[in-house]
Amino acid sequence: MKVNIGDIDADGISLDMAEDIEGLNVSSPADGSGTDVFLTSPVDAHLVIKKSDSDIFVTGNLDADAKMRCARCLAEFKSHIHSDINLVLLKAVKEEEKEKELHEEDLDVSYYAGEELDITEILREHILLELPIQPLCKPLCRGLCPKCGADLNKEKCSCPEEVHTDSRLMKLKEFKAEKAD
Ligand SMILES: [Zn+2]
Ligand SMILES: [Zn+2]
Repeated sequence: MKVNIGDIDADGISLDMAEDIEGLNVSSPADGSGTDVFLTSPVDAHLVIKKSDSDIFVTGNLDADAKMRCARCLAEFKSHIHSDINLVLLKAVKEEEKEKELHEEDLDVSYYAGEELDITEILREHILLELPIQPLCKPLCRGLCPKCGADLNKEKCSCPEEVHTDSRLMKLKEFKAEKAD
């Protein structure tokens, strides 16, 4: 969906939309067989768009249902994506001076050029930001046995315990690495 920038008057415009966004689904390149993240609903967005001089303010939120593949056990699970949008778009020519002015404010700053605002692109960017780097079906997913491939959430395999201890240790390291970010 695109909005003509000239149509944004002093009162601003409200958009309530449900839009299918294509080109967002992220497939696993590693095995090529599955989908890591796949939107299962239209993106439901409520936005208010205002304009002040040449600056455009987009506020609101979006929601979408998604299906993801767990990075540990490879099971598909349902998830939900929500993002709050608090964005200011500056006309491309003024970027440097504006960047300084807006530095202190808690806004995402981006730029636009031309006469149209690509709302779909704004939604797409916000959804991408919400996607987990490592989707997990549950925070403590035990994953697959690194030796025999058994789903350790469902069964115990007969592999030596140290195989799993090693993988748990790996997860602990991952967990610590995530916390350190
Ligand atoms: Zn899992
Ligand atoms: Zn095993």
